[in-house]
Parts: sequence; structure tokens; C-alpha cells
Amino acid sequence: MTQALIMKEAEQAEPLQVVNRRANLLGMNRADMTEAMAALGIKPFRAKQVWNWIYRNGITDFASMSNIGKEMQALLEQHFFMARARIDKDLVSFDGTRKWLLEFSDGQKVETVFIPEGNRGTLCISSQVGCTLACTFCHTGTQRLVRNLVAGEIVDQVLVAMDALGGWQQGPRGAKRDEDDSQQRITNIVFMGMGEPMFNYAHVARACEILIDEQGLQLSRRKVTISTSGVVPRIRQMADELGVNLAISLHGVRDELRDEIVPINRKYKMDALMESLHYYASKHPTRSILIEYVMLKDVNDSDADAHILADLLEGLNVKVNLIPFNPWPGSPYVCSSNNRIHAFGNILIRRKIPCPIRTTRGADILAACGQLKSDSELKKGQKVAL
Ligand code: SF4
Repeated sequence: MTQALIMKEAEQAEPLQVVNRRANLLGMNRADMTEAMAALGIKPFRAKQVWNWIYRNGITDFASMSNIGKEMQALLEQHFFMARARIDKDLVSFDGTRKWLLEFSDGQKVETVFIPEGNRGTLCISSQVGCTLACTFCHTGTQRLVRNLVAGEIVDQVLVAMDALGGWQQGPRGAKRDEDDSQQRITNIVFMGMGEPMFNYAHVARACEILIDEQGLQLSRRKVTISTSGVVPRIRQMADELGVNLAISLHGVRDELRDEIVPINRKYKMDALMESLHYYASKHPTRSILIEYVMLKDVNDSDADAHILADLLEGLNVKVNLIPFNPWPGSPYVCSSNNRIHAFGNILIRRKIPCPIRTTRGADILAACGQLKSDSELKKGQKVAL
């Protein structure tokens, strides 16, 4: 399947998921949930109660919704579901990073990673099983796209992590949690797990809407980041529609190199990408765009590259994250030396571009940047499901 076709189909994706005539509540925003229930004669205040049980209390079954009568619970059960993914593996790194391998109802699996930092925590979520692209430095890129995740499965990753981390504001049935509870908290969500989020735009956009709902999980738009390898039309669209943070997997400053290591560049060249960043910046002037740049020895780490990068980013409010390359089995690259990474960074700093060096987290459990992969694969004759 060509990339053009994948993009066309992804645009038409239906955000709601229906299985055996039951609709997944997790993929619905508040308005859709209210409407879906109204179609069954259920009053809006009931939909609000259900929403609260799911997103304020972490309830996973209708029978536990204690302010909803048995008859109504049965009606809801008949038409809706909100099942959590099964945790296939739960790995904890020596540095506290935690990685879950999650299995959805059709057996497909993705990885989700929680990175704790003091009293903050970032959850790195996946948007596809496998990936549409094949960036050469990325482990996920060696796994062909199996299918897009639906919005409910994207949201579900956050809910599963909150269950595991004890992150609900109230326990089941409204019991207050201890004031001094020191449980790890999810404060930031990044779409930097498996997959290219912009090739699954409809579902990713719907999931963002649910994550930032002020009557639900209440994440700030400023705490949600979509990372893309450079799907230019979607960058413009998300700037218009979503208003969440933008991160760009750049990794190269010349078309020849980027064509090779970030293949989407063959379709959307650097010029077009940079124009889209200026467009995003014009819509969100106070936001800093995160530029991700993996440091590959003798590939993209020269002083000349650093200067070109600074030139490219001139006039943009950006932060460059230099990412020491994290090897994976069979990876063809070597990480730049510490000295080289610092020399590269110093050139950017002299050009007034902030450029923290990302601390590698969770490498011992293959949870670090660019290391995610599941064993899901397309079966013989199976088509990519979008
Ligand atoms: S870097 Fe992102 S877009 Fe590229 S192969 Fe990896 S997951 Fe896919």
C-alpha cells in the first residue's frame, strides 16, 4: 500500500469503535457519549454520571456505578463497553521507568512507557501497532504497520497506566484517597510511542479531546505533545484544530540524509516542513516547538550540521532535544560520543537555541526513545486495518 493511499484512508477513519454492536465508550468525547445515550432515551445527567465514573473514578464496569440503577446498568451493558487492554508485560527499569506491553481485544499489542521525574511523570503512548514509516534509527520502524489504534485504545493506555500507578483522584465508589498520597502521577502525555500519530490523525485528535476534557482527566493542552516525523498537512491541521504541543522528529538537516533516515522526507521535503513549523508558530506564538534530534556517530553530528540546524530554526521558538542514540538488536548506528554531543549542543547554545541532552531512561527494559516494538505482525494475506 502506498503512503498516499494510507493517508487518504486515515483521513476517513471513523473515530468510534463498535464491536458486536456495542460501542466503545472510551473512544467518545463527552458530547458523543451524551448523544449516543440520548438515542437510547438515557438523559444527559446519566451520561455525565457515566463519564465521571470512567474519567474521575477509574471505574471499568457498569455494575460498579452505584448511583445508576440496575435496569439502567443493564441497558448500558447491552449497548456499550469500556474494557481495558490486558497487561501482557509490566517491566520496571532500575531508574524507575515502567513499560507495559498491552494487548487489545483482537490480540494486537503496543507498548506504553511511564517516565517518572520527581513528582511529575510523563506517559509515552502509542498511536499505531507497528509504524507506517521505517526511520532507520528506530526499532519500531522495523515493525510493519499492522493497524491504527482507535481513539478508545489510545485513551485506554492512559487509563491502564493510571490504574497501575494508583493515579485516580478518588478510589472506586468515590472513596477519597489520602491527602499525602505520594503515588506517581501522570502530568504529561507524549505521542512518542509506537507509530506516526499524524497517519492516524482522526483517532489521535479524538483521544486528545478526551484527555484534555475539563470534566474528565483534565490534562492541559500544554501538557499533551504530538510528535511527528513531518507529515506536513497534518501539522497545519493540528495547529488549527488541536492546539496541543508539537514535537518534530527531525534528526537530519539536509534532504539527502533525511530522505534516507526519516523516509517521510521523500514526500515532504525540509522546506515544506519548515514552512509548516512557521505556520504552527503563527497560530501558537507562545508555544515552544520541540525538535528531536538523535545523535548518530558520523551521520548527522558534525559542526556543519549544527550550524545548518541553527540556520533552519532561525526565527522559531524552539527547544532542541539532543537524544543519545539508544541501540536495539540489529541497529545499524553507533551513538555519537559525549564530547561530540556537547560540541554540537554548544554550537546551538551559542546561537541562543536551548538544547538539553535527553537523559536516557529505561534502556535496560528497551523503553528508551526509539526502542519500542511489539511482536504483533500482519498475518499472511491480512490487510493493514486503518
Ligand atoms: S521514529 Fe516514529 S515515525 Fe519513525 S519509524 Fe519510529 S515510530 Fe515510526
